[in-house]
Amino acid sequence: MSVSIPLRRDDGVIEVLKGYRVQHNNSRGPYKGGLRFDRNVDLDEIRALAMWMTWKCALLDVPYGGAKGGVRVDPRRYSTGEIERITRRYTSEIAPVIGPNHDIPAPDVGTDENTMAWMMDTYSVGRGHTVLGVVTGKPLDVGGSLGRSASTSRGVVAIALEALRHVGIDSAGATAAVQGFGKVGRTAARLMQEEGLRVVAVSDATGAVADPDGLDVAALESHVDDSGGLAAFPFAKSIDAEDVLTANVDLLVPAAVEGAIHAGNVQQVRARVIVEGANGPVTAEADKALAELGVLVVPDILANAGGVVVSYFEWVQANQSYWWSEAEVNDKLVDRMQRAWRLVTSYAVEHAVSLRLAATCLAVERVYKAHAARGLYP
Ligand code: GLU
Repeated sequence: MSVSIPLRRDDGVIEVLKGYRVQHNNSRGPYKGGLRFDRNVDLDEIRALAMWMTWKCALLDVPYGGAKGGVRVDPRRYSTGEIERITRRYTSEIAPVIGPNHDIPAPDVGTDENTMAWMMDTYSVGRGHTVLGVVTGKPLDVGGSLGRSASTSRGVVAIALEALRHVGIDSAGATAAVQGFGKVGRTAARLMQEEGLRVVAVSDATGAVADPDGLDVAALESHVDDSGGLAAFPFAKSIDAEDVLTANVDLLVPAAVEGAIHAGNVQQVRARVIVEGANGPVTAEADKALAELGVLVVPDILANAGGVVVSYFEWVQANQSYWWSEAEVNDKLVDRMQRAWRLVTSYAVEHAVSLRLAATCLAVERVYKAHAARGLYP
């Protein structure tokens, strides 16, 4: 669905933005997938992301299909009030195609729990009663789940630890670089440090920093909270953002946007293991080259699935109005991630294919089985 979003800006000028919601497949359950606010959003990007959600949900065995939404807007150039008006108008435009049993949005690039609260509220106003299950990734005060905000990162780290073990690297003292210091990369860096890894290089849209002895992630986080970005962090050397991707590390976590590692920079990649925190950070050409270079790549539909797994837990809790403890959420999340890891690695070994191909085959097969079992109506 393509929609126009007329926005009255704070200065009174009217602007019209473009928005999309793509539903890729619902053989296994309601459509599910995030909503992104980004200046590069277009229909093709949202279609690709919707398809990845179908495979991701199937691979992790959560009972959803795949969808994605987006608004073509640079949220940094708009006030909070303007973002709220964009969110509410977008939600009312797509309201006919979403719902707790139909299509359930969640946060993605450029959106957060406030966006989800406004979406839930706008949808609920239209229905005349509160519908908690229409979106996930909500604030705790309005039906969010404990553990949701850190869930993608927690899943990335659980998978990174497995991947390092798989290639025989001891995670204690292993080095890591993280591209992106937003919702996923920032908490992943902190959790990796807690697990004993040394985070030696990080970047965001404003800058990049490195320290071979290990960055102080807590200090980075408070600098970002105060100044809005990594630029001008006083306690480490500034480097080129591209150098984070080519850092000589055991583990690289690209956790920003699509296409970060491409044919033009892949030959400089030094990491032994890449865990895709973002959706689609490695292009198809780069993926081939990395296989030839012997780099283990853990695909997005496995590596960053922790977000939608806890979205599923949030939806289950909201539908039952019964809330779990944070430890319960985290334990169930890590257990599911590890089970999916074992499934994908054993398939990859058995069929002598990459983890990406193994994960995709398993996911497509599950969607196929659901599709075939349902048959054709009438
Ligand atoms: N946007 C996240 C993703 O790409 C989460 C989606 C969700 O929770 O529905 O997986």
